[in-house]
Amino acid sequence: RRRWLESHAVPMRNTTGDIIAMLSVTRDITERKRAEESQRLAARVFGEAHEGIVITNADGIIIDVNPMFCEITGYSRDEVLGQNPNILQSGNHSPDFFQGMWNSLKTHRHWQGEVWNRKKNGDLFAELLSISVLCDEQGQIIHYLGLFSDITESKQQQQLLELLAHFDPLTRIPNRTLFTDRLLQALAHSKRDQSLLAICFLDLDGFKPVNDEFGHDVGDQVLIEVADRIKQTLREADTVSRHGGDEFAVLLSDLRSIEESKLAISRIHQAILEPYLINEQTITIGVSTGITVYPLDDSDPDTLLRHADQSMYQAKLAGRNSFHLFDANQNQQDIDRHKQVNDIKTAFLGQEFSLYYQPKVNLKSGQVVGVEALIRWVHPERGLISPLVFMPIITASHLEIEVGNWVIKQAWQQLAAWHNQGLLLEVSINISGYHLLSPGFIEHLDATLATQPQLASQFFQLEILESTALDELSAVNRVIKACRNQLGVKVALDDFGTGYSSLAHLRHLPVDCVKIDQSFVRDMLGNPDDFAIVESVISLSDAFHREVVAEGVENHNQVNVLLLMGCELAQGFVIAKPMPADDIAGWTQGYQPHSSWSMLVEPNISTEKALITIFRIELRQWLNQIHACLDSTHQPVWPVMNSKKSHFGRWLKRAQQHAIYPIQILEKISKAYKELLQHGIALKHHVIKGEFETAQHYFSDLQIIHEDIDQLLLNM
Ligand code: C2E
Ligand code: MG
Ligand code: MG
Repeated sequence: RRRWLESHAVPMRNTTGDIIAMLSVTRDITERKRAEESQRLAARVFGEAHEGIVITNADGIIIDVNPMFCEITGYSRDEVLGQNPNILQSGNHSPDFFQGMWNSLKTHRHWQGEVWNRKKNGDLFAELLSISVLCDEQGQIIHYLGLFSDITESKQQQQLLELLAHFDPLTRIPNRTLFTDRLLQALAHSKRDQSLLAICFLDLDGFKPVNDEFGHDVGDQVLIEVADRIKQTLREADTVSRHGGDEFAVLLSDLRSIEESKLAISRIHQAILEPYLINEQTITIGVSTGITVYPLDDSDPDTLLRHADQSMYQAKLAGRNSFHLFDANQNQQDIDRHKQVNDIKTAFLGQEFSLYYQPKVNLKSGQVVGVEALIRWVHPERGLISPLVFMPIITASHLEIEVGNWVIKQAWQQLAAWHNQGLLLEVSINISGYHLLSPGFIEHLDATLATQPQLASQFFQLEILESTALDELSAVNRVIKACRNQLGVKVALDDFGTGYSSLAHLRHLPVDCVKIDQSFVRDMLGNPDDFAIVESVISLSDAFHREVVAEGVENHNQVNVLLLMGCELAQGFVIAKPMPADDIAGWTQGYQPHSSWSMLVEPNISTEKALITIFRIELRQWLNQIHACLDSTHQPVWPVMNSKKSHFGRWLKRAQQHAIYPIQILEKISKAYKELLQHGIALKHHVIKGEFETAQHYFSDLQIIHEDIDQLLLNM
């Protein structure tokens, strides 16, 4: 083995001084050599290391630093010797931070971490510091050794990355990511304190034109200014963020009322609306805001933001510079509706829809002239569902058009099948206003008609709701003309009389037929106003040469009165309920008009005579209605008991004034009618008091008085 040896040699002399021997002592100094080597190395390391090194005594007083320490901190060695390292402190760390450091040094004799310190010139720098505790053999602390490297640059890069990840580079306000973080915190906070939290979504109005007109740089300036202005109206705890483009979100926490959130948004709006002076240009823009308030809207963060966004669109719809508060109930309705539409769509695609047909007859001749196609949803569990339940849900949608086209196709094929059997009916279908006015309606109808070229299109009729025609008179007019002139199909105005200007419709819409709405037919006996409407629809149709059909005819009295008024075509339960297509042929063959019809209607009956007959029917119906009220098991529906309000009473008065009939007879009738009404009123009082027996006596009297009046009328 190689060893380091140290030799000392001493010459040994005799008495004369001559060297006679040499005394040599040699020691093995390998250990010492090694120690020196490593000390030298340590010194070089200390001197040349790229880390700063600081050594303190047990009291934390600096006893040495290396040149790199001086280079990084800017202090010379002499300046720091004898000082505490806390001369470097930046004030950026809390006392907790140092407490943690000392705890770790005590228990683990080591600590490592990132520290922001300050150089001699005041600049901040970041260091990755590791501190070790040096002890003697007895375990007493003798030194602290600190080793650090300057990581300011990488730290800055990291900060920049964080900034980019959380802030909008243009406006320097939080971006969507940071907003979501803050929203989560704010939600937790709101839960704890039971305060309200408003989530607002803002979208600038008229920002794009600014970009287009003044350029993107100006646009950017506006956005920066907008962000600043919003920030200025907010409190410390609130957040504004940019979500791209001209969209911003605002989080308002700790609210006590919804009103507060509205006030805050109004302030923001005002600030944004102030003109912007950029590059000597004066620019103005607007803003629309949607607000949703937690926990009234108890949704997850994504949904809250979406609700605010949706409401912002509502605000836009309402006009510029407005805000809209999200309505959680309304939203539930929208969701329900969406589901309903989907259900209907699925049912339609699953062929659960079917057409029923209701006969339309000529009351006088007994001829079955046609059928109306009425859509039904044949639901596997719920049974037959009326169009009144599901058609309104899909109104003005693409699905409505699809369904409508299916109805056209189905009814047209059915018509062909009947005609092939020799059943020469007319088929009418109901068409929605939206479908009628949709682009391509005429072309589509034309194409469908062409699938049965042998079939004459005048057997096909479209029923248009009068309320539809009202909205877009000229557009509807155009389509009706095209249907009739180009395609040869007929057109009817459905539910006639329910619109606001029926007379105008009759004049301006070239329809073949009007259908008197069933609500008037239902109440025309007993309600003089409804009677007057039915009467005038019939005479107007006559004047304009339109066919007239009464809908919803339910009883024989109505049939007779309609006949007396000159309306011969009718549809209603008294004739037949809507039925499946397969039943129509059999029904038509077996159809007989009721024997009582037209018994009262003599040929060429005069108008006056007809009216008298109508009053006889009305009075009989009046009596029947009173009779029904004697049935204690039913809720009574009382007829009119006031001669000023009854059809007959009004006529009587007029007839007496104009002396159309012999005055004595009229006076007799008038007296009897008064008596009739008085008895009716008395009867009503007894029924109300539950005295059904007494009421019954009154009814017997009523019958006698009624019989008298009926005879008098018959003899007129
Ligand atoms: P509408 O066109 O006026 O049809 C007449 C409605 O009155 C039908 O109801 C029919 O069943 C009912 N009705 C007929 N006679 C009587 C009666 O004597 N008494 C009473 N109380 N009611 C009677 P439905 O089938 O429920 O249809 C209701 C409405 O739905 C129709 O009124 C029509 O506007 C619409 N509709 C029906 N089918 C279609 C369709 O295929 N497409 C479109 N767009 N709408 C349709
Ligand atoms: Mg109809
Ligand atoms: Mg109708």
